[in-house]
Amino acid sequence: MTTDCIIIDGKARAEALRERVTAEVTRLKAEHGLQPGLAVVLVGDDAASQVYVTSKGEQSRAAGMHSVTHRLPATTTQAELIAVVDSLNRDPAIHGILVQLPLPPHLDSADVLAHLDPDKDVDGLTVLSAGRLASGLDALTACTPVGCLMLLREALGDLSGLHAVVLGRSVLVGRPVANLLLADNCTVTIAHSRSRDLPAICRGADILVAAVGRPEIVKGDWIKPGAAVIDVGINRVPFRDPVLAAQGKTKLVGDVAFKEARKVAGWLTPVPGGVGPMTVACLLQNTLTAARRIAGVT
Ligand code: NAP
Repeated sequence: MTTDCIIIDGKARAEALRERVTAEVTRLKAEHGLQPGLAVVLVGDDAASQVYVTSKGEQSRAAGMHSVTHRLPATTTQAELIAVVDSLNRDPAIHGILVQLPLPPHLDSADVLAHLDPDKDVDGLTVLSAGRLASGLDALTACTPVGCLMLLREALGDLSGLHAVVLGRSVLVGRPVANLLLADNCTVTIAHSRSRDLPAICRGADILVAAVGRPEIVKGDWIKPGAAVIDVGINRVPFRDPVLAAQGKTKLVGDVAFKEARKVAGWLTPVPGGVGPMTVACLLQNTLTAARRIAGVT
């Protein structure tokens, strides 16, 4: 193992960001009487979504924000959900709205997002937010991609001229990460399920962002020595130990084979404890940004 692979501590970075957001919320309240407000809308009872939504509520309250969670039954109709979004659009105490995805299959998430006020789109998922980012304009940007960029900037400093490979082209992660890297003057390659010879593409990367959702697809020999590797993937897999597996025990792994990768990479995010914690912290930061813009204060 090379001794100089730095394991990026996303938990500590996220905590530091939450502290900065909390201090800024305190200042906005004191100087402008402005309390940033975040509304999270959850439809149905998906177990992972319940955990994420609870955490978003707790962390926004801990940062001193006004926090509202709408838990709607799985039977909620499209019209009922849009009515909730519309009422939040009009609510002056709410500056950020997040509709937790995925929605139950009978609901049309694109149509729901089309009703969301882009000024309150703290998840960066409306077409306007994505279009502004792709056009190189200032935009509220999806939280996980922003978290990836923060970790990279803190690790590497100036990213100009580096070759970044993004594995995955989803609207939620791959595309916005690629646009943010481009905005930071990287040379960007986006790879996906139809790309040929992924290992060779990845080996050219100074920065490798894996957002695929395939457990440990990125092997050690896919990585250029000294590269910065950001593992966005969250995959729940059975333990290799047959006894634990037989008990139905599972663990989280990323899209990168961690043990192999750390022998080659210069920087590497772990799963869990890497990108994941940054996501909610960036949501708080986006809510702060949205509140400042809507209220017209700096
Ligand atoms: P997604 O919408 O399923 O997109 C996956 C992307 O990976 C697609 O572009 C797909 O290509 C590509 N892909 C799939 N299999 C591939 C393969 N064998 N080789 C190359 N490319 C392949 O997933 P996502 O929403 O972007 O999420 C990706 C991962 O990140 C998931 O594990 C998710 O749980 C995790 N995630 C983590 C956070 C966090 O906070 N840490 C946040 C969001 C997501 P095609 O476009 O060709 O189908």
